[in-house]
Amino acid sequence: SDPNAGYDVVILGSGSAGYACALRAAQLDLSVAIIEKDKLGGTCLHTGCIPTKALLHAGEVADSARHGEEFGVKTEGVSIDMAGVNAYKDGVVAKMYKGLQGLIKASKVTVIEGSGKLVGPNTVEVNGERVTGRNIVLATGSYSKSLPGLDVDGTKVITSEHALRLDKVPSSAIVLGGGVIGVEFASAWKSLGADVTIVEALPRLVAAEDADSSKMLERAFRKRGIKFKTGKGFESLKETAGGVSVTIAGGETIDAELLLVAVGRGPSTAGLGYDEQGVSMDRGFVLVNEHLQTNLPGVYAIGDIVPGVQLAHRGFGHGIFVAEHIAGLNPRPIDEAGIPKVTYSEPQVASVGYSEEAAKEKFGADVVVSYNYNLGGNGKSNILKTQGFVKLVSVKDGPVVGVHMVGANMGEQIGEAQLIYNWEAFPSDVAQLIHMHPTQNEALGEAHLALAGKPLHAH
Ligand code: FAD
Repeated sequence: SDPNAGYDVVILGSGSAGYACALRAAQLDLSVAIIEKDKLGGTCLHTGCIPTKALLHAGEVADSARHGEEFGVKTEGVSIDMAGVNAYKDGVVAKMYKGLQGLIKASKVTVIEGSGKLVGPNTVEVNGERVTGRNIVLATGSYSKSLPGLDVDGTKVITSEHALRLDKVPSSAIVLGGGVIGVEFASAWKSLGADVTIVEALPRLVAAEDADSSKMLERAFRKRGIKFKTGKGFESLKETAGGVSVTIAGGETIDAELLLVAVGRGPSTAGLGYDEQGVSMDRGFVLVNEHLQTNLPGVYAIGDIVPGVQLAHRGFGHGIFVAEHIAGLNPRPIDEAGIPKVTYSEPQVASVGYSEEAAKEKFGADVVVSYNYNLGGNGKSNILKTQGFVKLVSVKDGPVVGVHMVGANMGEQIGEAQLIYNWEAFPSDVAQLIHMHPTQNEALGEAHLALAGKPLHAH
């Protein structure tokens, strides 16, 4: 189609945020062009959510086999065929990629391959051509950051992208960063047979989560033999014949075959014309109002380039919101505290809303009540031999303002908690609902029964 036609919406970047915006805008009969320099689907599909979860699942299968005897099932010994693991992982990505290409094709969205740049209020330049849109949506995503003095070489010092392409499991690895991505790789690699040490400058793993969740995860990792050094910053790195030698705060050195740098993701916004065009930014992130509009008229920003949690489903939500806003549907602004978060390690950590500490700060320490239901009392968790808890944070005579979970499969359980938080349910409302027995979901029901003053299988 004619790139100069002038679209209703021109989207720069086709990751979770960009493609969701494109699909929803097309559904609303807007004319849409989406510009992508690499592959439709972006980070999440190709080098993020999907391949990492496949790797983690392969690890879980290996662990199940190793632990067969605990269930009376004898297995002969477990070995990992990394080529097979990669074929499985890449197969899942390929299938989802094909599906997305089909969806985009059926939607009549115009896809322009190339690297785009904002060159005017309503104009993006790509492949030497100008594409104009009544609205421009910036959705260029994020990249793995490193630290000063730490050069990523792709073999001994790697990012998550390289880590997904390894053709063998490292015998030993240092994971720099105990946030979601670091913890997930540490968990997967340990399950696949590596000796893993996490180095984290903050005082605890998954520091963005409730302190009780960090404590429980650390306990579980200790039991699994995943080593971690918290409160210890990276100091220096030396290459050795066998890999790397890393010195951390306090002078301790750790040797391993490779170092994974997982110290956060920066916004991909440099050199794209945002600055020149006068888009308001903060440390490279694009600033927006509650309608995800930048300071430039008709220019929106969505997904990982907007300050806040960098998650694919937040990107989907942003994309849908902006398409509906452009179409004049007046959608309700997104409450970012209501976006659920999951770390898909073994055990999983999941949450929605405020941590106990943040709730006390926001609502006052005297009105915040919390209840911690141990999965030891949950039948299904005992069947699975998984440990953990469901923790509720509530306001006295008020709604539930935070739910935190640790344990196997908790990523699948946080969905109900999201309704509870976002619909501002009181503990007594949820206590009224009957949860299925025996499921892990029942633990959420039990926690609400307890907080409503009528515990069943708890004190
Ligand atoms: P991206 O997905 O990064 O997409 C941006 C797109 O823009 C890319 O395709 C890029 O090529 C394109 N682009 C950039 N600049 C230009 C340009 N100038 N011209 C044209 N195209 C351009 N989130 C979850 O919710 N769950 C998970 O389990 C999860 N796991 C993750 C695991 C890892 C290892 C990583 C790295 C991330 C994970 N995430 C997860 C985060 C998730 O991937 C991101 O939040 C999500 O991809 C953000 O979507 P986005 O559209 O903002 O950006």
